Amino acid sequence: MKNLPENFGSLVFNDAVMRDRLPKETYNALKRTMEQGKHLDPSIAHIVANAMKDWAVEKGVTHFTHWFQPMTGTTAEKHDSFISPVAGGGVIMEFSGKELIKGEPDASSFPSGGLRATFEARGYTAWDPTSYAFIKDDTLCIPTAFCSYSGEALDKKTPLLRSMEALNRQALRILRLFGDKETVHVDTTVGPEQEYFLVDKKLYEERKDLLFCGRTLFGAKPPKGQELDDHYFGTIKTRVQAFMKDLDEELWKLGVYAKTEHNEVAPAQHELAPIFTTTNIAADHNQLTMEMMKKVAERHGLTCLLHEKPFAGVNGSGKHNNWSISTNTGVNLLDPGDSPRENAQFLLFLTAVVKAVDEYQDLLRASVATAGNDHRLGANEAPPAIVSMFVGDELMEVLESIMRETAYESKDKVEMKVGVHTLPRFIKDTTDRNRTSPFAFTGNKFEFRMPGSSQSISGINIVLNTIAAETLCQFADVLEESKDFTSDLHNLVKDTLTSHRRILFNGNNYSPEWVLEAEKRGLLNLKTTADALPYFVHEKNVELFVKHKVFTAGEMHARYEIMLEGYCKTLNIEALTMLEMVKKDILPAVSNYCRDLTATALQKRQLLPECSCEVEEALVKRLSKLSACLYQKNDKLEKALLDCKAYTDLQELANYYRDVVLLSMQETRTVADELETIVGSSYWPYPTYCDLLFHV
Ligand code: ADP
Ligand code: MG
Repeated sequence: MKNLPENFGSLVFNDAVMRDRLPKETYNALKRTMEQGKHLDPSIAHIVANAMKDWAVEKGVTHFTHWFQPMTGTTAEKHDSFISPVAGGGVIMEFSGKELIKGEPDASSFPSGGLRATFEARGYTAWDPTSYAFIKDDTLCIPTAFCSYSGEALDKKTPLLRSMEALNRQALRILRLFGDKETVHVDTTVGPEQEYFLVDKKLYEERKDLLFCGRTLFGAKPPKGQELDDHYFGTIKTRVQAFMKDLDEELWKLGVYAKTEHNEVAPAQHELAPIFTTTNIAADHNQLTMEMMKKVAERHGLTCLLHEKPFAGVNGSGKHNNWSISTNTGVNLLDPGDSPRENAQFLLFLTAVVKAVDEYQDLLRASVATAGNDHRLGANEAPPAIVSMFVGDELMEVLESIMRETAYESKDKVEMKVGVHTLPRFIKDTTDRNRTSPFAFTGNKFEFRMPGSSQSISGINIVLNTIAAETLCQFADVLEESKDFTSDLHNLVKDTLTSHRRILFNGNNYSPEWVLEAEKRGLLNLKTTADALPYFVHEKNVELFVKHKVFTAGEMHARYEIMLEGYCKTLNIEALTMLEMVKKDILPAVSNYCRDLTATALQKRQLLPECSCEVEEALVKRLSKLSACLYQKNDKLEKALLDCKAYTDLQELANYYRDVVLLSMQETRTVADELETIVGSSYWPYPTYCDLLFHV
């Protein structure tokens, strides 16, 4: 791309464009709305809408859409053109303030978890002025929230914005306690690292499992996987390189700070990391990134797989959510700082996160629970299903020193007194990394590594923001009453760390010993989605979200239902796809191979009776046995699916899928994969793992 700085964000109605095109008062009013979450005056909306339209029309745009994020986890849009008829049969291009602020998509087919009765099926979308409008596919896209007429959130953006507001309220209380009078707003920031696979599009289209489920349901292990570690950070293949270049350019035009592109551990696996930004924008940008990955891949004859586990036997894909808290003046509150005051403030925020992660480990686990992610978590390639927190050995020593009121093992062996002492310099420079931890402190931010690659990052950040808001609120309640701030602060940090010490773990999270140790510590180990989701609506969690006005109890139950339903539906589609592949493709392929082997043997015998037919006979015997077994396993799976009808309770149904259907699918797969290793290549009905993973 020529002139990158100039072209960056060329498709975004961003600050520079607004400043350039809006009257000064309008611009200032809009800025106030964006920065302080103030309401937008409708008369101002009209001026903004007009300027947006003019800007977009100059770029060849004819349509606009309210771009929103329903609970499907992806994005939705309905395009309207700008045209408005005028006398004489012509049209003019129009876009009103009303159209900018509010839309009414017929949204009755989006999941609502029963929140929206069909008689009031229409929801409405409302502009989120904190996220810039942009042009995609010649359409002006306006980032919007999506609600029902009675005000319940039907999307992922609304609660995310509410959770950011909750955190802002509580973090400001804490900052005031430390004498900070300047900060007017606190936001969380996120940089989500996105992993993905690229496979050849033609090969992809030959596999029903990839087409319908986004992952392979069958596939024997290829002779070579990731054991040589030769793909990680390896030379990028030409076609992939061209894809990455194209992708970066598309994202830059959309104002997405795509920064780093590299190969990941598994063959055909890659990663894109953006520069972090405010959480709701990061969430919008991550959705755009996923969409662009898919679109740009097509242009290169590739298909981008965002599923958490497209291939068994090699690593799956996650999304590392780097999260921090920042003031409007750009101070990172999870950065240790230099003075005792900054250090104390840092330690308080850090302690708040420690307490939050321990008390709400169930919510964090539930926020990453999907059928796809179940294949990753706990599979020794991704964090386990147990939530714990890594702070590194050096910071741990400081925390231990605070907890035990003893000197820590540094050069000068000083005792750490919060609010009095300065943290040693190493904490800022630490490069100490533990790749196995689900939740790691990495010097000035936390990296939550459990989220799945296909997930919207909204859900996890709603949880992170709200649980941090809650512990900060509890701290502020205590400290606002304090008569001796420094001493009370020290005791609060010390006592809180001591009570939540069990969540801190710096060791190897993949080791079997950790599972036992975690159990001893009383940490949860929720292995599957069906186990984790019920925690979402536990009383303490409903109270949390209601207290901070992030979700109503009704919204939470609706979400729980949608997530459970999503789990069951995903497994149902996978099981049905399996049945079809076995019956229509695999068994006939085995049969064809057997027929040819039998015919060969018979012909050999006719021509040369003394000639051995040992190979053909052995193969036919083995194939017949295995295909009979496959037929039987498939039959069992089919019956298991029919029995689903007996369950009317969603949670029970989810448990049934987990215990019976998944197991039956696994048994079917094992037999089919063995057959794949025996049947001749030209007979096998699908591209194999070798084809998919090594032919990009
Ligand atoms: P690495 O973890 O590979 O050393 P970095 O630490 O530079 O790389 O960043 C990894 C990701 O974390 C990037 O997406 C980056 O933008 C993001 N990140 C860095 N600082 C912050 C922050 N303060 N808040 C949120 N995300 C951040
Ligand atoms: Mg990472």
